[in-house]
Order: sequence, then C-alpha cells, then structure tokens
Amino acid sequence: MNKVLVLGAGGQIGTELVAALRAERGSENVWAADLRADALTQPAVALDATDAVAVRALVQREGIREVYQLVAMLSATGEKMPAKAWALNMDTLFIVLDMAKEGLLDRVFWPSSIAAFGPTTPRLDTPQYTVMDPTTVYGVSKLAGELWCQYYRQKFGVDVRSLRYPGLISWKTPPGGGTTDYAIDIFHSAGRDGRYTSFLGPDTRLPMMHMEDAIRATLQLMAAPKELLRVQTSYNVAAVDFSPAELAAAIAARMPGFTIDYQADFRQAIADSWPQRIDDAEARRDWGWSPRYDLDALVDDMLAHI
Ligand code: NAD
Repeated sequence: MNKVLVLGAGGQIGTELVAALRAERGSENVWAADLRADALTQPAVALDATDAVAVRALVQREGIREVYQLVAMLSATGEKMPAKAWALNMDTLFIVLDMAKEGLLDRVFWPSSIAAFGPTTPRLDTPQYTVMDPTTVYGVSKLAGELWCQYYRQKFGVDVRSLRYPGLISWKTPPGGGTTDYAIDIFHSAGRDGRYTSFLGPDTRLPMMHMEDAIRATLQLMAAPKELLRVQTSYNVAAVDFSPAELAAAIAARMPGFTIDYQADFRQAIADSWPQRIDDAEARRDWGWSPRYDLDALVDDMLAHI
C-alpha cells in the first residue's frame, strides 16, 4: 500500500481522516502535516502547504506516493479575506497537482464542496452536471479547482479524485469557519446551555453528512478502480438534509427544554446560494456510495458524545 501524506491534518476532516488511514495502512505509512504539529500524533511534521519546496522534500524523503490535500480557507472566513483565501486554496492545490504531473505521486485527493454551486443552480436534487455560479470566493476556488483537476487528469493523466462534501458534522474536532458550522455549534450549546442562537434562519435547508460517512466516502473513492470513475471533476455525495428548525426539533425530542432562536448574519446569504438537497446518482453508480447516518442516527451520535 502507498505511503500517504495528509496536508491540513489538524483540521476537522484531517483529524479523523488520519486516524482512519492509519487504521487501514499502519501508522508509520501515514504522515500528518499542518502549520503546527504539536497536537498531531506521529509521524507528523509542521509544514506550510504553500511551501512547494518543503512539501516536495518531505514527499521525496519519505517515499510518499499519495497526498490528501485538505488545506483551504473555508466559506465564511474566506469572505473576510478573499485574496488570501484564493491564494491559499489555489496554491496548495497546484503544488500537489504538479508533483503528480511530474510522476512523484500516484494518486491525489482534493475536496470540493457544495459551495461550488450558486444561486441559479437547481436547489433541490442538484444534479452532478448543472449550472455552477458560486458567489463566494471559497466557492469560486472550489469550482476553479475542480476544473483544474479535470485538466490535469485529461492533459497529464494525473489520478486526482474529488468529492463535493456537504456540511460535515463531527464531535471530535471543532469546525473550521464554514457556513454549516451551526449544525455542530448547536450540539455544544445544547449540552452547555440548553439553548442555541442560530446564525441561519429556521427554514434554511442544507445538505449535511456525518463525518464517519464522509471519511468512508473518501476512502471508498480513493480505493475504487480508476476506470470506473467517470466523473472528471468532483463527485456529488449526499447523506441527509435538514433546516435549523428540524435539527432543533430532533434535539428537543431527546433533550426536553432545549430551545432555539434565530439571528441571521452574513452567512445567511451564503447558505441561500447553495443547494438544499444533492443528487448523488453518479457516486452510487460508479463506486457504490451509500450513506449510513440519517438525521436520527446523526443526532443520537452527536448527543452521545458531546
Ligand atoms: P479546517 O479549517 O478544519 O482544517 C484545515 C487545516 O488546514 C487546519 O488544521 C489548518 O491549520 C490547516 N492549514 C491552513 N493553512 C495551512 C497551510 N498553509 N499549511 C498547512 N496547513 C494549513 O478545514 P476542514 O473542515 O477540515 O476542511 C478540509 C477540506 O475539506 C477543505 O478543503 C474544505 O474546503 C473541504 N470541505 C470541508 C467541509 C466541512 O464541512 N468541513 C465541507 C466541504 C468541503
């Protein structure tokens, strides 16, 4: 099995992806890298993923053949510093794509997002191939990244694989500044205060997924035979969709007395430009995708751990 490197390993996804990859391949075969390494378990290194020389040196020294490039500035934070978000999100992708193009890597994973869609995208059962007109710098970087992945596949034969993650829900690591963070914050507030003030309005339906499903989807996609993967950009993947009011009701059913109120902020406009429910027929067909967590299972699991 290939030795792998996870860039952005200390984040919400990276923390759980590193653990899952190590369980599968053995700890010594999975390098974790982030800006700071103190919270990472070994083998790990403090590394700036925009430093092409440092990333390349690590890959060559350790004989790494597969990279999961998770570093990005997310949707809500990206709107506050668009130029920095664009530079970080694109530079880190190109560094890895170029190493694969030169034959240093056999396979690359890079996540896209439902943020690559926009306000004129069909919002219900959003198909794999449809209008994509993102309005955030984060979404623009994801759509551009998807097209660059396709370009490197088609022009240079790079084996780069990608998923359009929905909002990911986990209890192990805090979320990193996205528009779907409310669906994690709500559980912490419920446990602490018995109440929550949502920054999205009650009826803002968004696609979501339990982190365990997201990690399983990632590993499944990366293990699939290349010839089965017909989507050249990034696969739609879906699990559940709900609104803040529906999530609050599911929590209140298990925590009598829990209450929610609403104070929408700038993230409302971002959420309103995204799909409400995703059609993931291609992922199901090509590599057998099927989620395990519905809303009830997700809420039970979050409340059991927070
Ligand atoms: P996160 O913000 O929690 O983690 C990102 C990590 O990257 C952080 O640990 C950060 O320290 C690190 N980092 C930032 N700049 C770096 C640099 N220059 N060098 C090295 N490390 C650096 O993000 P996440 O939620 O884990 O998301 C990971 C990826 O998945 C991103 O590409 C994101 O766009 C995508 N995604 C996430 C979600 C979600 O709901 N979490 C949804 C869709 C897509």
